[in-house]
Amino acid sequence: MTMRPQPRFPEPDTQPFWDATKEKKLMYQTCDDCPEVIFYPRAHCTQCGSLNNTWNQSKGLGTVYTFSVVMQSRHPAFKDIGPYAVAYVDLDEGFRIMTNVVNVKNPIEDIKIGMKVKLSWLDQGEGEISLPMFEPA
Ligand SMILES: [Zn+2]
Repeated sequence: MTMRPQPRFPEPDTQPFWDATKEKKLMYQTCDDCPEVIFYPRAHCTQCGSLNNTWNQSKGLGTVYTFSVVMQSRHPAFKDIGPYAVAYVDLDEGFRIMTNVVNVKNPIEDIKIGMKVKLSWLDQGEGEISLPMFEPA
């Protein structure tokens, strides 16, 4: 299996996020100085600019905000998987992630905006990061 494109480490802002994926934990940040939920991971709060934030583990339950189906990709990691869905999923904790919706027979017919989904990890190999995907809940 050809690995999907990977983050280029060192990644100062997102390293804790990627390290947690090795233990299949989906992490997000909350600001210590205002109510903001911060995602994707970064050093500062996107609302108030504070550098004080806390890492939290998501329960991995969410809702499809929107999606698109890629019918064909020539990238070696994708060329054999057939049509696949790229989606934005809104997690119950209040952040939105770009991801894939997997474990459906037909991504065109079986995925709906607003459907409930749950976390499903795509391993990239022993000791490697794992990629957070979602499947019907
Ligand atoms: Zn803030």
